[in-house]
Amino acid sequence: MTAPEDKNMDELVALCKRRGFVYPASEIYGGLRGFWDYGPLGTALKNNIRDWWWRCMVDCPPIGPDGEPVAIVGLDSAIIQNPRVWEHSGHVGGFNDPMVDDKETKKRYRADHIYVFYPKNFKTEHKRFGIAVQASSREEAHKLRDELWESGKWSKVVFRAQKEFGFDPLEGAGVGAQYGDKVSDFLNVYGPNGEDIGDWDVITAEELDEEHRKYTTNLELTNFGTLTKPQMFNLMLDTYPGPIRDEDAKAYLRPETAQGIFLNFKNVLDTMRVKVPFGIAQIGKSFRNEVTPRNFIFRSREFEQMEMEFFCPPEDSQKWYDFWRDVRYKWWLSLGVAEENLILRDHDDDELAHYSSACVDVEYKYPFTAPGYGELEGVAHRGNYDLTAHSKSKEKNRDSNAKLDYFDQELQVKLQNEGVDKAEIKERSRYVPHVIEPASGLTRAVLVVLCEAFTPTPDREGSKYILSFKPKFAPIKAGVFPLVNKDGMPEVAQKLYLQLRDKWPVEYDGKQSIGKRYARMDEIGTPFCFTIDGDTLEKQLVTVRDRDTAEQETIHIDQVEAFLAQKLAE
Ligand code: ATP
Repeated sequence: MTAPEDKNMDELVALCKRRGFVYPASEIYGGLRGFWDYGPLGTALKNNIRDWWWRCMVDCPPIGPDGEPVAIVGLDSAIIQNPRVWEHSGHVGGFNDPMVDDKETKKRYRADHIYVFYPKNFKTEHKRFGIAVQASSREEAHKLRDELWESGKWSKVVFRAQKEFGFDPLEGAGVGAQYGDKVSDFLNVYGPNGEDIGDWDVITAEELDEEHRKYTTNLELTNFGTLTKPQMFNLMLDTYPGPIRDEDAKAYLRPETAQGIFLNFKNVLDTMRVKVPFGIAQIGKSFRNEVTPRNFIFRSREFEQMEMEFFCPPEDSQKWYDFWRDVRYKWWLSLGVAEENLILRDHDDDELAHYSSACVDVEYKYPFTAPGYGELEGVAHRGNYDLTAHSKSKEKNRDSNAKLDYFDQELQVKLQNEGVDKAEIKERSRYVPHVIEPASGLTRAVLVVLCEAFTPTPDREGSKYILSFKPKFAPIKAGVFPLVNKDGMPEVAQKLYLQLRDKWPVEYDGKQSIGKRYARMDEIGTPFCFTIDGDTLEKQLVTVRDRDTAEQETIHIDQVEAFLAQKLAE
């Protein structure tokens, strides 16, 4: 298996384009930043992951901690809702990211995604300088710094910064850049008076002080940027339904699917045979005006989410949080992601929203974060924050007309049997349910599956890469080929193709050399190819070629369907 560090994102992006997985949106007009189109194979891959999530969450959810099957129902709510929803959910006031602008280049960045390296002991009376890189995590920032060093550019930036900031480095500063071959060998930068300024430190642009902001040069090397103070920027995209375009008509494209679920809590409760604990799940598009969409489809402005809100009694919420934390981690493994590339990261207390008592991220080692990890799902204990936020309340000026609480009859009976006193039973059996929310990105899951499957095969004849999807998720499950396009082989191959096509997406291909046809199937991640050759005509034997090993075996033509069914069930 190729390590994430050894996978090249540019090559993966090019392969996705060349083989019809993901195209830049409106490409013929020069594209639009943060938007992507999913091609025929990307759509199939995305649908397979989507269907698997739905199967595991709605059609056949796991057995719960008490040994009972968990109840979850599905939903598909509107993308545009009454704008009051977003005021009460906190998105209008709080869905903000701190941003910094580069005054010279006029580019805008998320302040927590700009990491500035600066010489730690550089004295304050001297002008200070920092070198900024744009990264999603500290690990990625260090990786970029190391790459800059290896490319020889780091020393150039340092020289440049020193010159720009008007101090006259002693020879040591310059010469130091040529010593050694790691960044750590270039720690001895000297100040204007020859003093050793020692180690480099790193801070985010959110923490930059005035002095550093002025003297920060950015990654593009040529652009000398002065960063502004961080300013808040709302991430919701707005729109104006109806004929009048004024502030009163302003509505928002949803930035998450979750709120549509809270809005329908009562509808589902009143119309479906569910009782707490139960969940409502939804998959759909979300929109965020991300300031720096980047890393291919990792962070886009239009994306798809898979979210489930699990409503439970407050007294049991910790139990359910632990349950979903575990179930969701295992689900990512079921996509074929290797355990060593997947971690659970508990949020520190200072990362938690004020209403949340716990949150854990499932993180993946993407090629662009390795050796670090990046988020793909958050499992949050949201308390009763959301249902309370959408419940009618005169004092709090909440103008919904709903009371989103729940009377728990089973709990009432249980407490009565336990002999709990009446007042306490009344108090405990009517409550606003607590919510455990596993929230993940479908389009981010597509990226994870693509990154995991992407395997350079420089030594293989024909294909330079394979996409080693778990067969269940492969867009095309099998290729059916006549070895040559004559001698009765196409007819037999067509017959087999029509038989398999009834069950799965399979492809028939009779053109080009067999090597080229295998290579194409490797690159689109088709796990098996069935070739009809002379042996088929004589002995009914079909050659099966395995994508990952390129090994071939023969099986009887009558066994092909059962063979494929078994592999796809794994
Ligand atoms: P981040 O910190 O990366 O901005 P977040 O913590 O704001 O993400 P959530 O609001 O918890 O993300 O959204 C749940 C999931 O939705 C994320 O784990 C991710 O998989 C997906 N997601 C969020 N924003 C984007 C985006 N801009 N593009 C693609 N997927 C996204």
